[in-house]
Parts: sequence; C-alpha cells; structure tokens
Amino acid sequence: MKKKIDADIVKLYGIITGLVAICIVICTVHVTSLTRSYREAILDKINVQTQMASQVLSKMFEKNIEIVTAEAIEMAHKGGLSHTVICDMLAECERQGRFQDVYFINSIGTVYHPDGSLTQVAIEEYTEMVDESLDGGVYLDNNSSNGDELSFMAIAPVIAGGLFKGYFVGVDSTASILDHVTLGYLDDSAISYLTANDGTILSATENAGGGSANNVYSYLLEQAKNPEQMEEMLNEGRITQENRDPIQVTLPLKMANIYLSSYPIEGTENWNYSCCLYDSTIDVMVRPIAIRAILTCISVILIMLTLVAVVWKHISKDQTRMEELAYCDTLTGAKNMHYFEMKARELLDDNRDLPYAVICFDIVNFRYMNEGYGHEKADAILAALVKAANESFSYNETFARISADKFVCLAIDDGRDKARKEFVEERVNRYANTIAVNYPIRIKSGFYVVTDYTEQIPSMIDKADLARKSITGESKKLFAYYEDSLIEETRRREYIESQMEEALENGEFVPYLQPKWDMVEDKIAGAEALVRWIKPDGSMIYPNDFIPIFEKNGFVEKLDFYMLESICKYVRRLLDEGKPVYPVSINQSRYLLHNKAYVRMVQDILLKYEIPKDYVELELTETVFFLEREHMVSVMSKLKDINVMLSIDDFGSGFSSLNLLKDIPFDVLKIDRGFLDETATSKASRWILLKIVEMAEGLGVKVVCEGVETKEQAEMLKEIGCHIAQGYLYAKPMPITQFEETYNC
Ligand code: C2E
Ligand code: CA
Ligand code: CA
Repeated sequence: MKKKIDADIVKLYGIITGLVAICIVICTVHVTSLTRSYREAILDKINVQTQMASQVLSKMFEKNIEIVTAEAIEMAHKGGLSHTVICDMLAECERQGRFQDVYFINSIGTVYHPDGSLTQVAIEEYTEMVDESLDGGVYLDNNSSNGDELSFMAIAPVIAGGLFKGYFVGVDSTASILDHVTLGYLDDSAISYLTANDGTILSATENAGGGSANNVYSYLLEQAKNPEQMEEMLNEGRITQENRDPIQVTLPLKMANIYLSSYPIEGTENWNYSCCLYDSTIDVMVRPIAIRAILTCISVILIMLTLVAVVWKHISKDQTRMEELAYCDTLTGAKNMHYFEMKARELLDDNRDLPYAVICFDIVNFRYMNEGYGHEKADAILAALVKAANESFSYNETFARISADKFVCLAIDDGRDKARKEFVEERVNRYANTIAVNYPIRIKSGFYVVTDYTEQIPSMIDKADLARKSITGESKKLFAYYEDSLIEETRRREYIESQMEEALENGEFVPYLQPKWDMVEDKIAGAEALVRWIKPDGSMIYPNDFIPIFEKNGFVEKLDFYMLESICKYVRRLLDEGKPVYPVSINQSRYLLHNKAYVRMVQDILLKYEIPKDYVELELTETVFFLEREHMVSVMSKLKDINVMLSIDDFGSGFSSLNLLKDIPFDVLKIDRGFLDETATSKASRWILLKIVEMAEGLGVKVVCEGVETKEQAEMLKEIGCHIAQGYLYAKPMPITQFEETYNC
C-alpha cells in the first residue's frame, strides 16, 4: 500500500514537473514573442517618427525660403535701397525671431546688418551658393563666424526693376534645428542627427555619443565590431542616401548593436534626418514589459499549481474514502481481508528481522450474543473490540475482520499476546457492561508463528484459523498453536463431512446402550443411548470424533432425530414383544433447541411409536448463557408439557450452578464424570457433591452419576445419597442386541 502511495506521489510529481515544464516553454515562447513584437513596435515607431521629423524639417526649410523670398520681394518694392531702409527691414525681420541672423549683401559685396553696421564679403561666393542651391534657397555654411557651430542660410536675390540688387540672407544655427522636431516617447532614448550624404553631422541631439566626431560614417566605422562588414554596409547606405531613399538597418557596434533609421529631407540636396537607438536602450524599454509578462506567467503557473494541489487534495480525499470503502469494514470500522493481505505482505517484506505471528481470534459463543442481545448490541461489541484491538497494535502490526466475530492479526511475537488479549477482553467487557451485556466476553485465538516470510498470507491465515478451530467449545484453554497435525485433522473433518449423509442413509450410525445402575437395589435402572459410527469395514468411530463436527455443521440435528426414532422403534418393539423395558435417555444437542419445530417433531415421533411417558428421556446440557437459558427453559417447559422426561447432562463440567437450575424444568441431574475425579481427591468436592445431591432431592429430581469406574466411587456415592450410577464399573455402552440379550429378557 505504501508502495502504491509512493507510486502515486511519483506520478503526481511527474505530472507537476511536466505541467511546469510545459508552462515554462509556453511562457518563454510568450515572453519572447511579446518582447519581439514590442521591439518591432518600437522600431516601427522610430521609423514613423523619423519620417515625420524629416518632413517637419523639410517644411521648415521651405518656410525659411518663403520668408527670405518675401523679404527680398518687399525690399525690391521699397525702391531706393538706402542704408536706413535696408537696416530697418533687417531689424524688423530679426525682431520676428525667425532667424538667428539676417543681413543683406548688395551687388558689390557690402553686407548690411540689422544694427546698421556694414561689413564686406565676396559676392561671388554667394552667387555660387545660389547657383548650387536646389530651389535657389538653402545653404549650408560651415564657414560661419559662430565658431564650431554650423549654420545654414536661406538666400533670396533682390531684383528691382529687372536689376539684381543683392541677396537677402537669413542665417540659423543647425544646433537648434532639431528642437523643431519630436520623436514622441522616444525623444529621451533615441539619438537624432541631421547629416549630409557624406556623413557630416550638421546637428545632433544632446544624447549623441561620439564626442567630437563630426562625421557619422567615420564614427560608425570606428565603433564597428567588424570594420569590413561595416564598410560594406555604410557604402550601401551612402548609395541609398544619394538615391534619396530611406535607410533602416541594424549595425553591429563594439559596445552594442545600434538601429539606424534615416530619411532624406525633401527640399535639400543631401541632408538627411537620422535616428539611432542602441539595442541596450531598446532592452531597457522592453524590460518592464518582459518582467510584467514573466510575472503574469509565474502567476498563471502558481494558480495552476494551486489548482493542481486543490484537485489533488480532493482526489486524494476521494481516494482515501474509496480506500476506506475498499479496505474497511463499514460495520466495525476494522480493516478487511483485502487490506490485511496487502498490509501483512508489506510488513513481512519490510521487517524480516522481526518475529511475527498470525493470530486468528473470535469471541466465544458470539452467536448467542446476537440471539440474546440483538444485532445492534452485538455489533456494538464488535466495534468496541475493534477499537480496543486497534489500540493494542503498533504501527508494524496489522489487524482485520475476517467475518462476523472472526478477526485476524499479524502481530510481533514478543510474548505480549496474552497481555494484549487480556487488555482487549477487559476493555470489551467493560464496554459490554455499559450497554447491559452481562455475558462474559472471552477471546479464543489460534496462533501461527511465521517462519517462512515468503509464505502466502491466505495460507498463514488458514493455519492460524485451523489452530483457532482446534479449540473445542468445551475447552477452557482459549488459545492454541498451529501444528501440522491440525491439517490432518482438517482432512479428517472434511472426510467425515463428505461421508456423513451417506452414512446416515446406510444406517452406519448405530445406537449403543449403556445401563444406568441402581446401586441400592443393585439392578439396572435405565440406559443411555450413545451413537457409534460403524463403517462398512466394521471399524468404529466414537462420537467425540464426529459430534463436535456435526454440531458445527448442523448435521447433529438429523442424527439426534435419527437416534430418537431408532430408540423409540426399539422401545416400541420391546413393548410389543412384552419384554421388560427400561427408560432410555437420548442425547440432544443444544443446537436442536433453535429449531422451532423441535418440540412438535419430538411429539410426532413419540406419538408415532406410541411411547408411554417415562420410557424415553432427553438429555440436554445446561447453558451458562443467560439469554439462551430463557429459551432453553421455554423449550424444556414445552417438552414437559408433552410429558417428556428431561435430564441435565454433564452437570459440573462447565459453569454449572445449582442456582441456575432452579428455573429449568427437569427430572434427572446427571453429574459429569470429571466431577467424580475431583471428588476422590478433595474433601471439599465431596462435600459439594453431597450438597448437590441434597439440593437435587430438595428439588425433587433424581441424580445420576456418570463415569463410575470403581467400587470406591460407588460406595462414596451411596454414602452421600446418590443411588444411580452409570459407568464402566457396571457396563460399557453396548450394541442394542447385546443389551437386549443381557437386560431385556
Ligand atoms: P455423554 O452424554 O456424557 O456420554 C457419556 C460418555 O461417557 C460416553 O462416551 C460413554 O461411553 C462414556 N462413559 C460412560 N461411562 C464411562 C466410564 O466409566 N468411564 C469413562 N471414561 N467413560 C465413560 P461416548 O459414547 O464416547 O460419548 C461421548 C459423548 O458424545 C457423549 O457424552 C455425548 O455428549 C455425545 N454423544 C454420544 N451419542 C450422542 C448422540 O446420539 N447425540 C448427541 N447429540 N451426542 C451424543
Ligand atoms: Ca449424555
Ligand atoms: Ca454426560
């Protein structure tokens, strides 16, 4: 059983491990795909934002050109371009804050500034720039006066009256150009650049790495993990940019991969807006999502494990219940045989070093308890026994109910069995008293000492049970050890049982008669019929060898009626033949008392053979069992009603008490021969016997003493007033023919 539970646990762990493994795989796939999609979403976002930003910048440049063009047109319309007119316009334009710097260059290179100051430049440079410009507007000027800072210019020619007057120039720093665009939530994490096709960095956001690097291509090449591969990739990028196409690429750098998204700025010849995002930055953004997903998965696994645990608990509870039903006897709560066989096997296999015994036990005369006190109380007694027994066994012993009041246990054979038996008996009797069961509960047990630990459990139980069965009802010793000879006895019992029916039909059961002797008159006073089984080969079996078996299997009933009828037939014949007839007593099993038709059947036989009163006497053994006694009294009273002579047989052999006899109607008291043995040796016994005889006289019943073998015994009986004796001193039981020849002539 333990092994089964272990197997179940292993199975459970297997299931849980499997489930957890599946969950981990699912979760890993889930977390990976989730982070991948989130990553892709980030890259999509950066592409979209980069494109949008490049469009914003494109619009901004367009706008700048529009402004300087409008200023140039306005200036042309002013007519005479005096120093004051020009400088006022410039000052006005500067106030509007569109450009960092505005100025006008006249056709000979004189530069007018908003503050009215004048400087000189070479006009050809500007003409060149205008020629190179796309829409005749925007220029990059890295030769600006603002130190390292790059600037760009929007230049519009001022043409008045068809004559070229100069250029209106708006200058802005590329440094602040990127303030005009946003990348949404990526603003803080992405690095943005405004670059030229040759990689020159025109502007970069503050978080741009590379320190003083002013060319993105050289910076990337410098940082490349694999410069050759990078070179190739960059060349490809250059071509794409020259074609004014967007770039989206992941570049492997030494410190981390970097994602680059670049869009050409429309309206410029070779300017591009690029956004870069380090893998590590993406990781930082993805991490919370991944952590959240992992936590969700862990929660799901935990919930699932909890569910498995709850379901398991439920199932194991059901299983325990089922095991209880499968292994427990619902009436007493004891374990059943199925359980016993498994548990005993397990214990014997695991504890080869412990001395074990299998013990079968039952309650003596338990059936009387059922009949006398009813099933409910009898069941309660059994339950009390189970409880007491359970308390008396240790963890490496086991105990089960076989049937009715029959139990089996596998106990450690350490000499404690008697103490244990007493403990259980004491507890059960104490309990019995509380439910008004006064019958003394005694346990009868058969022991089988286990020597071969591999022997089959049912075989051990059979042997212990055999030992139990070997204790006959009369035995005062209530335990017996198994011996191989018991098997022989069982075989013999089986043989007897297989033969009995046929033997009865074939007349193999023969009544013998043993005289009862009147010691005063010194003549025969009657006889007792005693059965003999005479086999066809002439061999004889004595009643002690088969009556106990028949009492157990109920066949005794048939045999007793057969004997009664045989004797009635014999008495009838003697009467018919006019021969002297003596009263014959016939043994009647107590078993008969439970047959409801018993009295009527006796009457039928007596009537059939017209047996006069006093010729046939029935011998019954008294019972100590109070409730059976009531029944006995009732049946005996009915027998008395139909004028049957009754005798109490074997008085003094069991728990006899004269007091108990006062309610029973009977005519003869037969004192057991064992009593006589004790009387010879003890004065007290002799005195008791005297009192029994006196009391019997007082009750008006005759006393017959059985087993009188010596003259001394006969003398002693006569002395104490017992006049009738039965025993070998006078005659042994003999066949009817011999008896007839001797006494009936
Ligand atoms: P029981 O009714 O007490 O019968 C007396 C037994 O004592 C007889 O044994 C008898 O042979 C034996 N006996 C008589 N005198 C002496 C003696 O002086 N010394 C010794 N040692 N024994 C003596 P038996 O015939 O072997 O019967 C044994 C028992 O079997 C009977 O005991 C009775 O209980 C039972 N029995 C015999 N015949 C029947 C029967 O037809 N029906 C039933 N139900 N039981 C029977
Ligand atoms: Ca008898
Ligand atoms: Ca007797």
